[in-house]
Amino acid sequence: MSARWVSAGLLPCLLCLGSCATVQQQDWYGKAHDTAVKATDVAVDKTQQAFSVAQDRSQKALQRMQHYLAEKDVLKTFHDAGDQSETAIGDFLRKAGVGAKPGGAPASKGGGKAPQPGAGTPRPPALPTTLPERYSGDMQWPLEAGIVSSEYGARWGKIHKGIDIAADAGEPVYAVADGDVIYADNKMRGYGNVVILRHDRQRTSLYAHNSELKVKVGDHVARGSLVALLGNTGHSTGPHVHFEIRDGDQPVNPRSVLPAAKLGDLPGPDTGTAAELSRVAQLGAQPASP
Ligand SMILES: [Zn+2]
Repeated sequence: MSARWVSAGLLPCLLCLGSCATVQQQDWYGKAHDTAVKATDVAVDKTQQAFSVAQDRSQKALQRMQHYLAEKDVLKTFHDAGDQSETAIGDFLRKAGVGAKPGGAPASKGGGKAPQPGAGTPRPPALPTTLPERYSGDMQWPLEAGIVSSEYGARWGKIHKGIDIAADAGEPVYAVADGDVIYADNKMRGYGNVVILRHDRQRTSLYAHNSELKVKVGDHVARGSLVALLGNTGHSTGPHVHFEIRDGDQPVNPRSVLPAAKLGDLPGPDTGTAAELSRVAQLGAQPASP
């Protein structure tokens, strides 16, 4: 019995152990090589696809920008209208425990007892202990294409606490930085459909007048991900996003935080070749068609 075993299998293997092992190794190396080549091919394909998608997205943004530039005189009439309950935003942020009053400690820090919202005020989610003290990444513009229709600062006898950017309804509105969604609703008078993102223990960004919200409270969003579609809800003269950045409850000029606009005073796309951007920027510098 054992002799048949030997003659049937074991003996030949023992006799040619070296060459068998070599063949097995060659087979293993061959398979590993094929796997590696396939993985490389897949990685290259994915990189090419990602590049192609980014290029396509950039091209479409440039086309929309050209369209907006042609319509810029009309788009510049699309901004906030009438009263917006800006105190509601400040109240909400203070209740959310974002930021600190000058010289003071954060209103709420992790396990601390958070202030209780008043009746009818949306209840902010608890401040997560994982939230960074200070967001260290870059910020980007909330739109890839659009026309700034109203700057931050004095307006109508008070301070406009954000910047208005007009575009067609449905223009994608993107997160300017990584963050958590702490508000996605329409209960703040005048602002329409609003998203508020919290980026660290002090800083938030706000996107108002949207036609549609694409996130919900509790979602974590990455910089550049879709949060809403631009619209004309709330007190508004036409499709635009009212965009704010706040340190605690204090508004800051978004232009002091966002990167310099690639197209002069226009947000414009972040991507595109220098030649493309230059061509579109020149269009922006020309007087709009009557
Ligand atoms: Zn505004």
